[in-house]
Amino acid sequence: MKISYSPYELKLKYPFSISGYSRTSTPLLLLEIFHEGFTGYGEASMVPYMGERVETASAFLDKIDPSSLKYPFDYEQITSMLDGIEKGNPAIKAALDIALHDLQGKIEQKPCFELLGADKHAMPVTSVTIGIDTPGVIIQKVKDAAFASVLKIKLGSADDKALINTIRSVSDKPLYADANQGWKDRYQAIDMVHWLHEQGVEIIEQPMAKEDRDGNAWVTERSPVPILADEAVQRYADMEKIKGAYHGINVKLMKSAGMYEAGKMIRRARELDMKILIGCMSETSIATLAGAALAPLCDWADLDGPFLTANNPFKDPDFSEGKWVLSEEPGLGLGKR
Ligand code: MG
Repeated sequence: MKISYSPYELKLKYPFSISGYSRTSTPLLLLEIFHEGFTGYGEASMVPYMGERVETASAFLDKIDPSSLKYPFDYEQITSMLDGIEKGNPAIKAALDIALHDLQGKIEQKPCFELLGADKHAMPVTSVTIGIDTPGVIIQKVKDAAFASVLKIKLGSADDKALINTIRSVSDKPLYADANQGWKDRYQAIDMVHWLHEQGVEIIEQPMAKEDRDGNAWVTERSPVPILADEAVQRYADMEKIKGAYHGINVKLMKSAGMYEAGKMIRRARELDMKILIGCMSETSIATLAGAALAPLCDWADLDGPFLTANNPFKDPDFSEGKWVLSEEPGLGLGKR
């Protein structure tokens, strides 16, 4: 096995704003693993609030002995080996895991969704995020997203109702909402949940601070809409901490350290009778296809990276009737531009 990698600055079509924070690009590390004539592609998307950078990711890769990655891949063993090198660093771990899955698919001549036990015909629609902005820009964003059948709205500011009203002035599509821990107390949160329910919002992510398990559980208990943990659940071990406090989880490859552990989290969520949204960061086609390979195992998808970015270096995956369309190509099915 041989690993090579290079940094890449993924530019956003619009500045990305959530409560209290804004940016115009996302640092990536694009990675390739070579083995017996095959190449597996992986990607780390390092959104600044998660704490990883190109420097931390390349320093992590320098500590890996490529000969320790042996085919057939034992992902449980590889995960504990990587966690043993350093805790944290889930995005660069995800890049390695995604590349290994792509490589495995190519070696075995199977698409990744088949390796993961997913039925590509069970693909859920994917939402497209409309970021916080001025009313004029929001209306333009909603028009740009005419191809989407569901919109996702970032909330958690003082203007949540005005934002939803602006969207409702131009669209009656179903909405997913993400409060990003922005609501300050359980009474404000439950008022907003009921109001959003009346506005056609179908799921709500992370109403309050991730540390406030009791507050989020109180809202979940009273909510007519599924309440999902996002910031409160990163990796598999977190599943036991959040069970009972939310209706479901938002699983993301850049939090879970890749496809293998995301699959474990999905199976554990099913055992706990919890719902699953598969989400993403700002990502190219690599991580989008990796998420899409798992999406048929989930209830909802929010895999909108290629729609929100301006310089995806790869071919956009096929998209039809609001859904990603997976190919029968071995591995991820990544196409060159
Ligand atoms: Mg979220």
